This record gives sequence, C-alpha cells and structure tokens, in this order.
Amino acid sequence: MTVRGCRAAALAVGDELLDGYRTDRNSPALARFLGERGWSLERIQVVGDEESVIAAALVELARDHALVLVSGGLGPTLDDVTRHALAQAAGVALEPNPEAWAQVQAWYQRTDRTPPSSNARQALVPEGARPLENVQGTAPGIHMRMAATDVFALPGPPREYEPMLEAHVAPWLAGQDDGGRVRRVQRFHLFGISESLFADQVAGWMERGCNPLMGVTAKDGVLSVRLLAEGASEQAAQALLTARTTEFLGRLGEYVFSEEESDPARVLGAELLSTGTSVTTAESCTGGALAQALTGVAGISEVFREGVVTYANQAKVERLGVDEELLRSHGAVSGPVAEAMACGMAERTGADLALATTGVAGPGGGTDDKPVGLVWFGVHFRGRTASVERRWPPVGRERIRRWATAQALLLGLRAVRGQPLD
Ligand code: ATP
Ligand code: MG
Repeated sequence: MTVRGCRAAALAVGDELLDGYRTDRNSPALARFLGERGWSLERIQVVGDEESVIAAALVELARDHALVLVSGGLGPTLDDVTRHALAQAAGVALEPNPEAWAQVQAWYQRTDRTPPSSNARQALVPEGARPLENVQGTAPGIHMRMAATDVFALPGPPREYEPMLEAHVAPWLAGQDDGGRVRRVQRFHLFGISESLFADQVAGWMERGCNPLMGVTAKDGVLSVRLLAEGASEQAAQALLTARTTEFLGRLGEYVFSEEESDPARVLGAELLSTGTSVTTAESCTGGALAQALTGVAGISEVFREGVVTYANQAKVERLGVDEELLRSHGAVSGPVAEAMACGMAERTGADLALATTGVAGPGGGTDDKPVGLVWFGVHFRGRTASVERRWPPVGRERIRRWATAQALLLGLRAVRGQPLD
C-alpha cells in the first residue's frame, strides 16, 4: 500500500446526529469492521445535512485517507444531499443512473408497488461512480474515486449500513494490495482482573507499532483482548501470534474464560448444553439477574430448571432450607450461608449445578466487617459444594450486581470444566 496505508476515515451525515437526540452508531460499527480486517479508522467526523459542509469535509478527509466511508443522507427527500455533496467534492456532474433506478424499482416491485417520483432522486449518481445495491432499503449506496481515495457512501439506518459494509466494502478491502502483508487475529476474554492490573501485566505489548498489536476493551468486568499479528507470509504472521499468545497465557491464562465469546452467560450456557448439565439458581444480592442472564441463552430450557430470589433470611430458610443457626452465627452474607443456599437449591431441584449469591451491593448496609462490595458465592456441583468470596470496591449498586452476576456464571463454568474455583 501507499504511505497512506490502510487508513480510513468516517463521515457521518445527519442533522439528527448533531441535535443531541441520536448518536452515531455507524462509525463504531465501521471501526470494528475495519479493525477485524487490519485497517484502522483514524478519524470520525459528524456533520449536518448541509451540502457545502459535507463536500468540504469529504475533500479534507480524502486528502489524508485511502478510504472514506460516508453514512446517511441518501434518502429521497430534499434534505438528503449526500449524493450532491459527493459530486461537488469530486467536481463532477450528478446524473441519472439506469442501474441505480433499476435497483430502486426492484425494491418497490418486491412489494408490488411503483416508486413515488421523489425516489428518482435516489437514482442520481456522480459521473463515473457506481451504485451499490441495498437489499434492506430503497437507497442505493455509491462507490466513487476521488483522486487516490475510494469513497463509499452508504445509507444511514444501521440495519442497512452494516450489511452494506459486508456486501460492498469487504470485497473491496479484500481486493486491495496490502504489500503482501498477511494478518492473523487471536482473541481472549478475561474476568477477575482489573484493567489497571491487566495493564501492568502487559505493559509494552500495547504500544503503537507493536507486532502483534494488542487492543483491549472492558464491559461489565469482562476484558476483551485482541492480538493482531502481521507478517510477510501466513507462517510469519502465525509464528509471531503464537509466540505472543504463549506469553499472554503464561501471564494471564488463569483469567481467560473464552477465546470466542465475551458474554459469560453464553459461554456457560453452551458448556451446560454440550455436557447435558442441568442448572438452578438461588439468588440474594443479584435479585434474579443470574436467572435472567441464563434464560437469555437460546435453547437453555434443555438444562435450566428454575431459579429463586431469596432476599429475606426467612426466604432462605423456608425455600432453601438454610439453617437459622447458620444465619445467626455467620450472617446472611457469608460463605457458610452461600454454600447452604446452593446446596439446598440443588437438593430441592435435583440439578447438577446450583449457583448462589449473597452480598452487600450498597450503597447502604455495609459494615467494617462486611463492607459494600462484599459478595459470597455458593457453587454446588454434583455432590460437592464450595464457596468463594469477592471484595469489590464500592463502585455502585448496579455495577456490583452485574459483576456478581458475571462472577457467578463463571464460577459455574469453572465447576463444570473441573477447574479450581479460586
Ligand atoms: P434512507 O433511505 O433510509 O432515508 P438515508 O441514507 O437517507 O437512508 P438518513 O435519512 O440520513 O439515511 O437517516 C435515516 C435514519 O437512519 C435516521 O433517521 C436515523 O434514525 C438513522 N441514522 C442515520 N445515520 C445514523 C448513524 N450514523 N447512526 C445511527 N443511526 C443513523
Ligand atoms: Mg439524514
């Protein structure tokens, strides 16, 4: 590739993106799409539906980037001016395009309608550009060259934009001369390590220009890591990736719960389904979030029997058979009670795996002994019961509940996989 390399810019068009009521969802989707293919999105610009402003932004972005992706403003109404701006930026005329018109007509014909005359506007394409078929809507996209830059303009609705990236931009990327560079990607999803501790462990692997290059994102306590290796051949790229992967697992392997899936519920759900392991939940501080997460997994009815929310001590006694003496001597938020909850639930349902939570989510209710952020987990798996303690900082009731939910799911995963719980 040229010195401008695999560098792209996004231009999101729409007054609605500037008035504070709608946020640009297409550019983040584009960033992920490009990142997976070894390209980097270096700039995101948002402008209103103003022809001259769009055109000026296009000229500027095309100067510095090999690829510019425009989203929005391709509709049939007079306020949709992206195609006019493309023509203005490229210094060419806008002309009716028979292929684009055929695509608009075909869209209407599928539902036995004829296009209103305002749709003729959508068949206008800058001279020399080509229309791109949109299978989800009426507006065809446009692919145009501006000097050394390729510009793609795609419709704004995300459910049209994203499929069109796959349909039209992916083949273009695949056809680009990348100087014979080959890329290999490896992903890891981790739980149980803070971002700062993680950063200490991998300092140096995330610097710009590193090969493999490492990127990390965090959501609900899950860290998702991507290693991207680049080499002159497949073997070269793979060798770099394998070496770094080995080092990575040496340092952080204990926290990795999946290489494919970042959602703990889906990972546990898949494991339960593939091993035919039945599951039940007894929740206090997570208030049903654990059952909610599990039942969000398609097909889980094969293995999920029931879950209960036993919030009050009395409920723990009546529904789960927790010994009142245990509650008196250890308190509800304790290892023995977490174990008794899991054990009681397993006995009452006959499930292979029972998961229990009991903790102090805050903001009130904490003591020196049992501060906000303390959560005990009970895990019963095929006749054996254990408890695990976590002490999180007081990061807010909602986050503690979310982290506790993820933690309970992943403790269940460890139990089923036969890994040590702590
Ligand atoms: P259409 O043919 O559907 O009109 P279009 O290209 O003209 O396509 P717009 O009219 O600009 O698209 O936007 C249509 C709708 O798509 C907007 O009302 C908005 O809801 C949504 N939309 C547009 N751009 C974005 C964006 N960047 N992120 C999220 N939603 C967007
Ligand atoms: Mg618009």
